[in-house]
Amino acid sequence: MPPMQLTNRVAVITGGARGIGREIALLFAKEGADCVLFDVNEQALQSTVQELEALGRRALGLVVDVTSAAAVEDAVSKVLDKMGRLDILINNAGITQDGLLVRMDETQWDRVLDINLKGSFLCTRAAAKVMLKARSGRIVSIASIVGIIGNPGQANYAASKAGLVGFTKSVARELASRGVTCNAIAPGFIQTDMTHRLPEDVKQRLREQIPMGTLGEPGDVAQAALFLVSDASRYITGHVLVVAGGLGM
Ligand code: NAP
Repeated sequence: MPPMQLTNRVAVITGGARGIGREIALLFAKEGADCVLFDVNEQALQSTVQELEALGRRALGLVVDVTSAAAVEDAVSKVLDKMGRLDILINNAGITQDGLLVRMDETQWDRVLDINLKGSFLCTRAAAKVMLKARSGRIVSIASIVGIIGNPGQANYAASKAGLVGFTKSVARELASRGVTCNAIAPGFIQTDMTHRLPEDVKQRLREQIPMGTLGEPGDVAQAALFLVSDASRYITGHVLVVAGGLGM
């Protein structure tokens, strides 16, 4: 099998109904994977599942809030019941709730940490139990360049993404001898609904800071994810792959 193909593997992608997660699922399906999406957006789930099926793969959309341990455990059982295996986990579900530190309230802090960091912990814990038994698996978490270089107005988001980096390296060390790799991707600014909401002058200032002079596309992150879940990266674990057009180097 060519090293970037995912024939017959089963991938769970959280937040997979829209944006970067959707793009990752579509690319994995093109490379032969069956995909399960955990997401809270029912409408987007349905349409992305249809797109995946149109590519000739099995696909399942589950309404799962990744902050609920019970919902995550239940969803992983459904993956095993319906798909028979779980080879790949992409922790992608994430949100922003921006605000300057002195005006940031506790709910803004808690919500972002809950979804971005605790959600990844809950999904990884549930998937790792399956992968350890199988003695193989691939876990990739979508962090952010902001977790490495910081960003004014995003103390909560940056903390959640920096947390994911430490989490990734610790889990990588725990699972390395058991055939399971755990890596992260730190995207820069990617054109999705998340960045679409930014005012044009902010986007212009961002472009000026990016050595490659342009925002990235969801496909740029998806290609990095494909590499990190494929056999081509079999000897890489605990790594943070920055996909940011040179931002942060
Ligand atoms: P997006 O377009 O907002 O999509 C995120 C998806 O996750 C949505 O379908 C969303 O549902 C879902 N979601 C939100 N909360 C959830 C929860 N509690 N449980 C399950 N699913 C949930 O975001 P994106 O821009 O593709 O970003 C994806 C990931 O990349 C995030 O972790 C983000 O931090 C990271 N990232 C993005 C950028 C960027 O520039 N876009 C840069 C660096 C890192 P709703 O539709 O209901 O909101």
